[in-house]
Amino acid sequence: MGSRSMLLALLLVIILISIIVFDQVRIKNLEVALGRIMILSGAGDSLVVYHPLKLTERQVLLTPEFVDSFTRYKSPFWDGIRGEDRSLQDLINEYVHNRNEDHYGSRRGGNGIKRIHEGLDLFVPENTPVYPLSDYGVVIDVSHNPNHLEWVACTNAAGAADSVQVEYGKLVTVLYPEGITSTYVHLNEVKVEIGEEVHGDTVLGLTGVTGNLIRSGKASHLHLEMRYLDGTSYDPRHRLHYRGTSFGEFVKMLKI
Ligand SMILES: [Zn+2]
Repeated sequence: MGSRSMLLALLLVIILISIIVFDQVRIKNLEVALGRIMILSGAGDSLVVYHPLKLTERQVLLTPEFVDSFTRYKSPFWDGIRGEDRSLQDLINEYVHNRNEDHYGSRRGGNGIKRIHEGLDLFVPENTPVYPLSDYGVVIDVSHNPNHLEWVACTNAAGAADSVQVEYGKLVTVLYPEGITSTYVHLNEVKVEIGEEVHGDTVLGLTGVTGNLIRSGKASHLHLEMRYLDGTSYDPRHRLHYRGTSFGEFVKMLKI
């Protein structure tokens, strides 16, 4: 073997090692990303929160199916995910997209109107029952209309504070003695009426695909909003001040 072909062979080996090292780094990064994912999985009528119990800004709520597709990554050579049509990059893009779209505070609007997503999207199977957040509450609002509109705060094209109608669809709002409300949006079915007293085991409705979800192409999910009595919304991921619970416990209280 001449020195030139030796050199070529050495070069090929170096390239191969580089590819493997690069691939291993990507796998490591994925494992780190996975560690930040909180898996929501229906087990009976309870939501199981696997990991971790407390959310930070960098964590994201995703379906178990999506996380499964993450963990099926076995490459070394970028031929996509085994058993998936999508590439690894597609999955990462989906991960980032979900993080930016589904949380409280995500940007919404269009045509010069700016508003925020005033709830948290919890991706659970369609027709999952939803329950009150506390042992006692009173239903203060319902809509059985799949195209029901709600007024929400926004900034108009001129930059001034304004309000705009958003299609929420079927919903239930419960007021708790602590002075907060929770609103369950995009339901398929509403099971309670205004004025009804509800308890921890009362099924308020079933999750579904109503309101602007019908045309958005997004998967069925529960849009959960929490507001103070003055109507100001806040991030459901934050600790429930009145209960002193972590978000993980809060999700369990939801029982979805
Ligand atoms: Zn939403």
